[in-house]
Amino acid sequence: MSRCIETNCIHLEEDEVDACKTHFGSVSFPIYQTATFAHPAVGKSTGYDYSRLQNPTREQLEKVVANLEHGIGALALSSGMAAISLLFEIFKPGDHIIADSDLYGGSIRLFDNISRKNGLKITSLDFTRDNVEDYIDKNTRAIYLETPTNPMMNVHDIRAFAEIAKRHGILLIVDNTFLSPYFQNPLDLGADIVVHSGTKYLGGHNDTIAGFLVTNREDILEQFRFIIKTTGAGLAPFDSWLVLRGIKTLALRMERAQENAIAIAKFLASDPNVTEVIYPGLPQHPGHETIKRQARGFGAMLTFKVSSKDIALSILEKVRLIQFAESLGGVETLITYPVTQTHADVPPEVLAKNGITDATLRLSVGVEKVDDLIDDLRNALNESRRG
Ligand SMILES: *Cc1c(COP(=O)(O)O)cnc(C)c1O
Repeated sequence: MSRCIETNCIHLEEDEVDACKTHFGSVSFPIYQTATFAHPAVGKSTGYDYSRLQNPTREQLEKVVANLEHGIGALALSSGMAAISLLFEIFKPGDHIIADSDLYGGSIRLFDNISRKNGLKITSLDFTRDNVEDYIDKNTRAIYLETPTNPMMNVHDIRAFAEIAKRHGILLIVDNTFLSPYFQNPLDLGADIVVHSGTKYLGGHNDTIAGFLVTNREDILEQFRFIIKTTGAGLAPFDSWLVLRGIKTLALRMERAQENAIAIAKFLASDPNVTEVIYPGLPQHPGHETIKRQARGFGAMLTFKVSSKDIALSILEKVRLIQFAESLGGVETLITYPVTQTHADVPPEVLAKNGITDATLRLSVGVEKVDDLIDDLRNALNESRRG
């Protein structure tokens, strides 16, 4: 029987064979802080030649992440955007990619400014409404989505998109940052490539930037390995170790953060100045049944709208325990203002279409005591009401 994910966050089964003989029995995987490796003889290698190509600490992290996502291999990169940029190097000018319109702002910026310049054709659709299949042509190579989406928390049926991709012989790429492999495994649902910002739940402590690509296709993995060696955005040894360490508590953090998020969603829904709470764990969320079918949890990201821009801005100033900062997925609860932060470079008409207003706030719920978080939000809302 294969081991459970909680255990796989902490152990790689293959390490147990000779645990005391390798790395002096070191329980924490060592940081191989080296740029290069000596060769025993001409034409011989220890298995490592130069850290841009591969480094033992990075390789260990890649094995752990591949194992958690049920892929045949993973690549650890210097950021989530480095991962998505590397991924797009597998396409060539003229290739067509269909992407959902509600994505992380940085991904939209990459597609609009870099991928298009490189000759890729990107069609941006609303995957909750448009029929993706109508837009597939002979040059279409991939469908790209996040679920739940950032920041509107739309849930897409991964299996349904995988069926469309298979029918047309194209790739399904899923950015799984928001749920992490602890709650969702897109490869099991038919996706070909999974993307992560490792900065978020995998790292989990708001202390480093990292990204991942995971696949279950040998041919794609080989292409990825060639590109990482050639373009050089592999994750550094120390950062690899930080993420390895972060992942050890992934299960605990995800459970606690989700529990907190459910309580906060209920609290916010009862506040008169909150006009909408968007959290897929609430039964009234349109994606509630789909996420229950394809994931093991709802995550700890939630978006809410208040009655005016002024109140939104005031809340950002009045929170004390909760910090007003970009990013998500760490132990600290953060509040974000998408229109000026994560989605600042997204054209206004796209923001409007996706329903991202100037009264929209996003919470990444952390693992503090929920009573303290609710107190902080209650105070900020009350003080904002008074003006
Ligand atoms: C943060 C984020 C990214 C980008 O990752 P970085 O590590 O910041 O480069 C990509 N996708 C999603 C969903 C994210 O939240």
